Amino acid sequence: MARSKAAERSEPRAHDGALPFADLEAELVGLLGSGDEGAIDMVDAALGQAVLHRASDVHLEPWADCVALRYRIDGILHEVAHLPHEHLRQITGRIKVLARMLTYEKDVPQDGRIDPERTPCRKAMRVCSFPTVYGEKTVIRVLDADPSLFAVDALGFRAGVVEALRDLIGRPQGTLLLTGPASSGKTTTIYALLKEILGARAPSAHVVTIEDPVEYRLGRVSQTEVKPHSGFTFEAALRAVLRQDPEVIVLGEIRDPETARVAIQAGLTGHLVISTIHSGAAAGVFTRLLDMGVEPFLVASSVTGVLAQRLVRRNCPHCGAPYAPDPELRARFGLAETESAFRRGAGCEACQGIGYLGRTAIGEILAVDDTIADLVLSHARTQAIHEAAVRDGMVPLAADAAQRVREGATTIEEVKRVVPVPNSPPPDLTAADSDMGNSEPGIQNPKSKIQNPSSGFSLVELMVALFVFTVGMLGTVQLYHFGLDKIRTMREAALATQAVQNEVEVLRALPFAELTDRVDAPFVSAPDLCGPLVNLTPSLTVCPHADGALRLKQVTASIRWTGDNGRTMERAVTTLIADKAGKGTPGPRPAGPREAASP
Ligand SMILES: [Zn+2]
Repeated sequence: MARSKAAERSEPRAHDGALPFADLEAELVGLLGSGDEGAIDMVDAALGQAVLHRASDVHLEPWADCVALRYRIDGILHEVAHLPHEHLRQITGRIKVLARMLTYEKDVPQDGRIDPERTPCRKAMRVCSFPTVYGEKTVIRVLDADPSLFAVDALGFRAGVVEALRDLIGRPQGTLLLTGPASSGKTTTIYALLKEILGARAPSAHVVTIEDPVEYRLGRVSQTEVKPHSGFTFEAALRAVLRQDPEVIVLGEIRDPETARVAIQAGLTGHLVISTIHSGAAAGVFTRLLDMGVEPFLVASSVTGVLAQRLVRRNCPHCGAPYAPDPELRARFGLAETESAFRRGAGCEACQGIGYLGRTAIGEILAVDDTIADLVLSHARTQAIHEAAVRDGMVPLAADAAQRVREGATTIEEVKRVVPVPNSPPPDLTAADSDMGNSEPGIQNPKSKIQNPSSGFSLVELMVALFVFTVGMLGTVQLYHFGLDKIRTMREAALATQAVQNEVEVLRALPFAELTDRVDAPFVSAPDLCGPLVNLTPSLTVCPHADGALRLKQVTASIRWTGDNGRTMERAVTTLIADKAGKGTPGPRPAGPREAASP
């Protein structure tokens, strides 16, 4: 890499080859010592080489005796050079200039972005600095991928996962959640799904994203970045954007109860919501949402599917060779000694001696059906939900991972790095390979209640109906959870729903003056409609507003049914209504089931 400085900065270095790690350190240290512009050349070279080595991140980390330069390649940090400490200020200064950050501000963390035209390698980069006792540490994310290349088929998922994802994003509404640790490829999957949605719904698609931060600009999508310091949080952004009536909402992450509740409700009211949430496995997402205080019936009816994903490194195709994996680990993943050609990369020039080249996605996808919805409604434990999903055909992460080892795509050691070692061997996918696409839940038997209205009313559907009409017509603040699990006849549940809807229609038509005459009086009783088992008695209260006007405040419905023991049970539901100024306040919890006098 002989160089003339003027030529270098005008010509992208990307045409040069990737230097072996062993030579890179000497090269960079040489540049630093070459005069006034040494740091500029060094930074250009370090970033250019990072791109050539397919690094996703560049870490410049001051240590006690040097500045370590590390590249994250396929998810793993590799130490590539140790630079003299005395150049730290110039190096950091150069990066800050490129990223339009404050060069004099060294004691507080800063964020910045390098535009592609400002680097010789022509890549956009995101920079963040962080003060440490040895000086400023800088991490640079290479925003490498061309958004136009995102494709669901290219992520590496097996066919069953791809089909299940396509089914879920093809629905008009619902919440699809992705889970997995940092750098497990969730963002890339979401962008690929978005690209597919845009293709399928063009040109009328109304898509918005709320991100932290926006990683790739997609062109024909309204993307926004949250600014928590100024109060523009995920929740605030979501509430605001819902007023613009988007069809598809991508929410970067569900982190807190408020955001969870708004997102889950949005998924119930005509929007397709795609978001991420922290959890180890797909089944754990439900427990997490319930722990956040989201009502079980909202979770059960809004969440249509959960994808848990990981990225595993692929064996280098140039140096991969047969090997014998650790017998105990092999047994734990259900892999027989004889069944497969296990392969591992020995390390070559193409993979920089690492043995792996590139990554592929593995995933377990849980499509919510009646069984899962009922388990969520009954607060079932994560393990019970997981087991039910596997019985329904969900392929667990460990089984997907083991299959990749069996096929020689990766090593069992690599799998162990990203997937917990299972207690019992996961199912062998080899036999199911041919029909794996059909074995995923939600594909062969799409059981979604929203998709199959003809399958008869169900508990979840009743709750959805009650929820949707209150939100749609009255602007609900809260709809408290109520258990109708003892209702035996779904037809009666349906009739009860219908009765409420009819009455709300009547209410809507009434002027407020007439509504006030009905304060606290039961205005409907529908025993004829619903028969002896379900007795629906909604009542209405209004409250005087500060300005003296009367406003609708709440609707109460009590539902009566005969329990298993033959006794009549009753449960009240209170729906609080916000007036136009949004002054709704939390009210009393619904009464639990209590025995009523037998008729
Ligand atoms: Zn290799």
